[in-house]
Amino acid sequence: MNNVFMNTYHRLPVTFVKGEGAWLFDTDERKYLDLTSGIAVNLLGHNYPPLVNAVSLQAEKCFHVCNYFQNDTSEAFAEKLVHAASHAGMKKVFLANSGAEANEGACKLARKYSLEKYGPGRHTIVTLKGSFHGRTITTLSATGQDKFHKDFGPFTEGFIHIQGGDIDALKKTLDKKTVAGLFIEAIQGESGIVPQSQEFIAAAADLCEERDILFMFDEIQCGLGRTGTFFAFEQYKDLQGKPIKADIVTLAKGLAGGIPAGAILAGEKTQDVFKVGDHGSTFGGNPVAAAAGLVVLKTVNDPVFLAEISRKGEKLMAGLRNNPRIKGVRGRGLMVALDIERDSWKILEAGIERASFVKNQNGILMLSSGEHILRLLPPYIITDSEIEQGIEIINELLA
Ligand code: PLP
Repeated sequence: MNNVFMNTYHRLPVTFVKGEGAWLFDTDERKYLDLTSGIAVNLLGHNYPPLVNAVSLQAEKCFHVCNYFQNDTSEAFAEKLVHAASHAGMKKVFLANSGAEANEGACKLARKYSLEKYGPGRHTIVTLKGSFHGRTITTLSATGQDKFHKDFGPFTEGFIHIQGGDIDALKKTLDKKTVAGLFIEAIQGESGIVPQSQEFIAAAADLCEERDILFMFDEIQCGLGRTGTFFAFEQYKDLQGKPIKADIVTLAKGLAGGIPAGAILAGEKTQDVFKVGDHGSTFGGNPVAAAAGLVVLKTVNDPVFLAEISRKGEKLMAGLRNNPRIKGVRGRGLMVALDIERDSWKILEAGIERASFVKNQNGILMLSSGEHILRLLPPYIITDSEIEQGIEIINELLA
């Protein structure tokens, strides 16, 4: 491993050179079952032929067109994305490159909506403890985990973190004189796959509606089909049993299947808030990313494909539930966490070492969410037999 990188990652001792489907291959051609999807990015696995073709074709045409002009591929992508999100009330989109950038823009959008309608002083954004919204100074302010805050202040003002599930705190904190938005992950990813309760989301929807506070969802990890529906928040209902209405939704990670892309989707209230010059991004809507994004949307935004994600997730969880060394298995679709007694990093290391011990024995790639939680985010194209292999290897590593 070289030492010119800044020391920001706990990197494991393996170098990957290529991928195929749900597998990655290292420099010695050893195979690893990838249950990470590059942290929810390679939704369609590695080297997915339609993605490779779309990206190659676009690269032959043009790599980049600046946002002063239009580009046919970027426009087609934006249209398909808004169309795919229209059932959840989304009307317009701003294209970005990453999750933090999308979330940062979402906060700007919420603040401007509130400022224009109610004047200064109503700019607070309420988020949840345990949330993760990104690494910029503002998205760190939004992130409700102290461990990410040390050393980097002063932070952007105007963020309050409350406990998910605490409806009293919600009622007290969502002050219509000071709060612009409530920004949440329906299922928290980074902190170990923590779904919000139906009661909490329904109460939040009701309070936001009554007080004209924007209901904003960070679907960067749990969206795009990961939990078996296009958005994870679609699995919740409001107090009247109707679908939840979002005002702003952010996406990134798998939006272009492995090429950087992010998006801010705006509903009825916020669709026309940004005016020319209010926001921008050099690479946002990049044609190569857009070409890849079109393939992702075409593949994922399909009820049969989404139902398969749920089925595969159930199969994976069912296969791990009867392991006495796993204290808890939770998740939705292919977003799964395992509570284990052993140190999760040791298990991740063992998953890699496994490939080097015996010839033709495969390794496995998983993620840690804290000391005793393994997080699994397999690619949607994983097959039943690969799920079975995954279950077998995990059970073996935990034995
Ligand atoms: N929001 C959520 C829910 C995430 O899981 C992440 C990344 O893990 C982010 C935002 C930040 O995304 P990015 O790393 O692309 O800035």
